[in-house]
Amino acid sequence: MSRLDGKAALVTGASKGIGRGIAIGLAEAGATVAVNYPPTEGEAGAREVVESIEADGGSAFALGADVSDESDVRAMIEAFESAEGAVDVLVNNAGILTQSELAEMPVEMWDETMAVDLRGVFLATRFALPGMLEQGSGSVINVASQLGIKGAEELVHYSAAKGGVIAMTRALAREVSPEVNVNAIAPGPIETSLLDDITEEWRERKEAELPMDRLGSVSDVVPTAVFLASEESDYYTGQTLSPDGGDAMH
Ligand code: NAP
Repeated sequence: MSRLDGKAALVTGASKGIGRGIAIGLAEAGATVAVNYPPTEGEAGAREVVESIEADGGSAFALGADVSDESDVRAMIEAFESAEGAVDVLVNNAGILTQSELAEMPVEMWDETMAVDLRGVFLATRFALPGMLEQGSGSVINVASQLGIKGAEELVHYSAAKGGVIAMTRALAREVSPEVNVNAIAPGPIETSLLDDITEEWRERKEAELPMDRLGSVSDVVPTAVFLASEESDYYTGQTLSPDGGDAMH
């Protein structure tokens, strides 16, 4: 029997990147996986993820919702619950990254980051949690960032949102244990489209700075998510696990 047989998981922002990898990893471990994507984009990517899981003998379906939109998220959780019952594993992965020095940052940039990277985590958790608590079990896995621990210049908004996700993970873990486990993953720089705009100079500097001498790949993150979704991590809650090449060492 696979580690996640009989479990139903929802992964937000799973049309590509880390979310795509986690969705496939959870399905490989036996879970039925809902692949969330933002309705305005990402549908083709989500369809590709579902097809790839099904081609491998797994079970998946796509669910469109903007994680920053309350009615979208409510509807997504309702659709999930009518298909699968309560969410067993919620992976709050959807996120955006933009860059600006704070002194020049448009207020909209701050607001949009908070809406997707922090409010999105709150909304999906808010609406999935009652079902988890009613069934007496569940696992919430929040994808934060090492920058939520150490911070980074030109990324004050992103660092603040991700630091908020880590604090929320700890506070909620205290509130809903022992029924529901709440943990975070704080990856370091991972090769996905989120890093599309980085300069070669930044990459070389970062690689030299990292104890592991290289940026990470999606496959460096997926096993942590599968572990946190499985019963093997039953005694972990409020924790932040960091596949970050030694970047933050918190
Ligand atoms: P990515 O390749 O850009 O993927 C982000 C995903 O989130 C995409 O599927 C995107 O959909 C989706 N998304 C964006 N806004 C959304 C919204 N409002 N509602 C629903 N889905 C939305 O980035 P990634 O690197 O895989 O990042 C995944 C998570 O890891 C993020 O939370 C990020 O902050 C975190 N992280 C990444 C790194 C890194 O270096 N890559 C490091 C630490 C933490 P569309 O593309 O269709 O818009």
